[in-house]
Amino acid sequence: MAGMSGLVSVRDARAAVLSHCDPLPAAEYRPAAALGLVLAQGVVAGEAVPPFRNSSMDGYALRAGDVATASAASPVRLQVIGRVMAGDDPSGMIIGDGQAVRIMTGAVVPQGADAVCMIEHTEPAGSAGGAEEDGAVLIAHAVSPGENVRLPGEDVDVGDEIFPAGTVVGPAHVGVLTSVGVQTVRAIRRPRVGVVSTGDELRSDGGPLAPGKIRDSNRPGLLARLTSDGFEAVDLGWVADQPDVLAAALERASEDCDALLTSGGVSVGDADIVKMVLSRADSALWFQVAVRPAKPFAFGRVGTRLVPVFGLPGNPVSALVSYELFARPALRRMAGQRHLLRPVVQAVATGAFARRPDGKLHLARGRLGYGEGGELVVSALHGQGSHQLRALADADCLVALPDGHGAQAGERVEAWVLGEMPATDPD
Ligand code: AMP
Ligand code: MG
Repeated sequence: MAGMSGLVSVRDARAAVLSHCDPLPAAEYRPAAALGLVLAQGVVAGEAVPPFRNSSMDGYALRAGDVATASAASPVRLQVIGRVMAGDDPSGMIIGDGQAVRIMTGAVVPQGADAVCMIEHTEPAGSAGGAEEDGAVLIAHAVSPGENVRLPGEDVDVGDEIFPAGTVVGPAHVGVLTSVGVQTVRAIRRPRVGVVSTGDELRSDGGPLAPGKIRDSNRPGLLARLTSDGFEAVDLGWVADQPDVLAAALERASEDCDALLTSGGVSVGDADIVKMVLSRADSALWFQVAVRPAKPFAFGRVGTRLVPVFGLPGNPVSALVSYELFARPALRRMAGQRHLLRPVVQAVATGAFARRPDGKLHLARGRLGYGEGGELVVSALHGQGSHQLRALADADCLVALPDGHGAQAGERVEAWVLGEMPATDPD
């Protein structure tokens, strides 16, 4: 095992782990199923958007030249020869001089017309209050050629490379892909990630807790984290502290998963079986990372497919923080993502973030907000122990406190944003 004596920086430990995690192969996905995935191949449009000349307004399609002098004081009267709704095909219709057609948004602009006057600038002038289609319309506003007319291909033209390889598919991409009739895209496969818990003390069936036992909270927490990060999460259950059982479980799971997460058993205790099992794996690593929480971390690749296994620590906060530091960036790399880390912001501490020098980076659970002047501020949450998961649940960021004495109120600190930034809406 490429064990390292002494503490290893987060950066060095992460670099070592990332060097063993390569992007997965591509697969075909329907546009909606590709949400969050990275395109492995650029997409070329086979259809134009819009596919035909259409109106951007409800109003009257007409010849701009006919209404060049129109105004509220002296409207121009046009003969209405018909009506075109969105979805209609007005192929036979031709608008001549002095004529107009009632038109709805998205409807084909008939031949002969070169502009649309919005309904607000018109008034029906039908004979004896009859339907306007039978009569005439008064146009009280001049329109220029092309006004309120959307041209074919204005958004996407046939042959355009709409999205290059490397694009992360978002909701609007799904819409665009569908609008040009794309049935499937090639995208890097969504990593399928199995989660297994270790520890004789764990109970995971919801039954009563016998003395000395605790509930297995890491597994559901990690599974939820994976789902929330866009990976496919696979529940592999729990194994007792028996190295052979764990080794067999990992081996079996490696046939069906692209990566595996374990929690517990990576420290220096007597029952640290994950560390023991991974020490026999391919590309084995074990670190004491210069970070708090999440100091111990083990890694190895198992099975014939050499599937990466991330040996996260057992303490609930450490497990999720270790996931953030090592597993999430590696899984994002496997998913073909270019940005591996969380966004970092600078925020003003609302109170002290106390710590002592110990050679480690401290990651405090914090909550972002806005100060009176609109500046981004961050507060420390109560309960910063690595066993106190509640503060992490309430946190929207990890405040990075370099080795030293921490930060005082009013000082600027660096915060790694875990979820969404706080909203600025008044509420
Ligand atoms: P370990 O590294 O296995 O010694 O675990 C460190 C601490 O984390 C111990 O207090 C464990 O009981 C706790 N722990 C380990 N696994 C889990 C889990 N799946 N859910 C909740 N706590 C756990
Ligand atoms: Mg344990």
